[in-house]
Amino acid sequence: MTDQHRPESADAPASPLAGRTINFGSGGGAPFGGLSVIGGDLAGGDAPADEPLGDGLPTETRVLIIGSGPAGLTAAIYAARANLEPVVLGGSTPGGQLMLTSEIENFPGFPEGVDGPELMNRFRAQAERFGARFHDFDVDRVDLSARPFRAWARGLEFRGQTLILATGASALWLNLESEQRLRGRGVSACATCDGFFFRDKEIAVVGGGDSAMEEANYLTRFATKVHLIHRRDGFRASKIMIDRTYGNPKIEVHTNTEVAEVLGGEFVDGLRLRDPRDDSERVLPLEGLFIAIGHRPNTDVFRDWLETDDKGYLMPHEHTASRIPGVFIAGDVADHRYRQAITAAGDGARAALDAERWLESEGVIEHVAQAAW
Ligand code: NAP
Repeated sequence: MTDQHRPESADAPASPLAGRTINFGSGGGAPFGGLSVIGGDLAGGDAPADEPLGDGLPTETRVLIIGSGPAGLTAAIYAARANLEPVVLGGSTPGGQLMLTSEIENFPGFPEGVDGPELMNRFRAQAERFGARFHDFDVDRVDLSARPFRAWARGLEFRGQTLILATGASALWLNLESEQRLRGRGVSACATCDGFFFRDKEIAVVGGGDSAMEEANYLTRFATKVHLIHRRDGFRASKIMIDRTYGNPKIEVHTNTEVAEVLGGEFVDGLRLRDPRDDSERVLPLEGLFIAIGHRPNTDVFRDWLETDDKGYLMPHEHTASRIPGVFIAGDVADHRYRQAITAAGDGARAALDAERWLESEGVIEHVAQAAW
């Protein structure tokens, strides 16, 4: 693994969106754990570019894809198989949130389960096999005012006749001063990145969704005990995960409990917990805290151009099309309801098909044969 590919972990900046740069692989929010590297070919392999610029990188394409999670990579597979030679700007930590996933048990075709990074490696290899070209660059800004649409990354200008936005979402933090100060010193948002460091220690996970439950169960492989801390007495997690969590003898569930402060000088040594019903407080000694409280869509660089909802998610206009003709939207960047790898992948396929049809309608490519779909 190189630093360039390292997903956000405990020592990364609090906001992956700071400076309005999109850093796609930063879902350190921990629903998902795990570390691996996608073998990115920064030179874009030897695939021909329509108009190579800079140091020979292909920067001009009919389909420019921003994002390299399941949505972006599936769009790349479909666009590549349609001979559209897509260019993917995958972010400096490519692969999306699944790069932080320990094990995926619900992706069809893998009855034994599959590691997130391995699944993303397979997606990418499949896209590359058909000619998709990758640059693991973060996008600084875009200009969607005219075709070709333009995106800037690492000082290079990339141009696409169509654009597929698949930048996903990133982890949320509690935003306590003590949490931020102790990030990398016992506070983490990636169980599979950092769980190993908590072998034989007592730790906690915050959150009441599937992510928190998944992390808590995963962390019992290492920790002597895992406290699951949730601010309400009802959970968002699925029943199977709730049952698994309550059935795990190494997990203690604390409902109606908030983290008021992460305690510790150089390293975490406890939590100050609060009961929101009566504001009573108590101290829980432990050595690690994992945050798993949800996500924020990576839409900052698009906000000047496209409509977002009240949570910041992009809003497709018709199918995967945005309100700007030729700009398409796929995956978690527009989805706070399903947020599954399989639904994001489905979106990526839809967006690539819609882009292909749109290019045909604009006369940029010839008639799309049904067999190519
Ligand atoms: P989520 O379902 O939105 O749950 C976030 C949890 O964090 C909620 O319980 C929420 O509490 C809590 N929370 C939010 N902000 C908080 C704050 N400031 N302080 C304390 N607690 C806070 O997010 P998720 O668990 O990341 O799951 C997202 C989606 O991914 C879901 O659809 C989930 O099913 C899916 N997922 C699936 C898998 C899997 O299939 N293996 C694994 C992980 C995630 P409240 O309930 O009080 O709002």
